[in-house]
Amino acid sequence: MTSDANLKQPAIATGTAWQADVRAGVRHVRDLDRLPLSPAERAAAQAAAASHKVRVPKPYLDLIDWDDPNDPIRAQVIPSPDELIAAEGELGDPIGDHAYSPVPRLTHRHADRVLLFPTYQCAVYCRFCFRKESLTSIGRGYTRDALEPALAYIAGHPEIREVILTGGDPLSLPDKALAEIRARIEAIPHMRLLRIHTRVPVALPSRITAGLVAALQGRLMVTVVTHFNHPREITPDAETACRTMRQAGFVLLNQSVLLKGVNDHVEVLEELCRELMYRLGVKPYYLHHGDLARGMAHRRTTIAEGQALVAELRQRLSGICNPTYVIDLPDGGGKVPLAASHIEGRDGETWRIRGQDGKVRDYREVVG
Ligand SMILES: *Cc1c(COP(=O)(O)O)cnc(C)c1O
Ligand code: SF4
Repeated sequence: MTSDANLKQPAIATGTAWQADVRAGVRHVRDLDRLPLSPAERAAAQAAAASHKVRVPKPYLDLIDWDDPNDPIRAQVIPSPDELIAAEGELGDPIGDHAYSPVPRLTHRHADRVLLFPTYQCAVYCRFCFRKESLTSIGRGYTRDALEPALAYIAGHPEIREVILTGGDPLSLPDKALAEIRARIEAIPHMRLLRIHTRVPVALPSRITAGLVAALQGRLMVTVVTHFNHPREITPDAETACRTMRQAGFVLLNQSVLLKGVNDHVEVLEELCRELMYRLGVKPYYLHHGDLARGMAHRRTTIAEGQALVAELRQRLSGICNPTYVIDLPDGGGKVPLAASHIEGRDGETWRIRGQDGKVRDYREVVG
């Protein structure tokens, strides 16, 4: 990418280009028939799809290198026979969302913010999804009525400041539905921030149209948390989509999931984080340790491997480009940082702290 190309204003995707991208993609497990799958993938497809839907829009499908059986894009969306192996200790509700759901379509675990599920459908279905069992067992789309109890709950809890639209993928909804949801949320006086967690800028960037952006603009600050996992997902179309959102004034952050065979190499994570920030203007926010979703043992790393990766990232990337490595604990324990501590010990007011160069130094606290 030359600096000239950076300056040029790309056309904002309008109209229905994205609908053609959806139609030309994989919309159902039977559409996998026309792809060059391995016999094992083909055999697994039907059974895997029974526990988690299959959907891949055309732009994401086009990123797959079919000559590489271990292609990191393919690994994220094409059902694998390994998904059918449920390991001991895996969970249907890996982070305990259900226990903190006082009304349907809402999770309230932290006082100031709630998850709101306007739809349980997605533009792309990621094989590693930690919510795959609710997506498959619930499978419901958006209706105005379905959100009423959740909106009433938010209105009745003045401690809530952020509403996080998640799901499902909120940006799989039509503009009209998004505008309606946004208007309902901003009408609640104590609301401060509208957050949108989405894979659409990655998998279906043509969906980020002027109309979609306008539907989300209103009284509230908007933060869009994207979900890029691999540098190959950072395409010119994704760049256009992110530029459209940035120009609308949205704050852009990214969360990635650490996935074995996809992004568990320091060079891959380094390039991902750097290009997110430098090319897309998207700040790396969280790097999630793999959740205990069923059938995903083949994609999980150990925590020690994750810690080694983020220690190396810390050396290579600026503070702004570094995500926080977190685990979402089962049973609603929430997200907690996992990076290895630099604190080696303490003797009264003197702390022994390991520097970035690996040497341990004493730091004596002096407080007034
Ligand atoms: C992840 C999550 C949030 C958002 O947490 P942040 O640390 O603000 O990103 C809120 N509620 C629930 C239940 C979550 O799982
Ligand atoms: S888009 Fe998000 S919610 Fe949907 S399948 Fe992928 S990870 Fe799960």
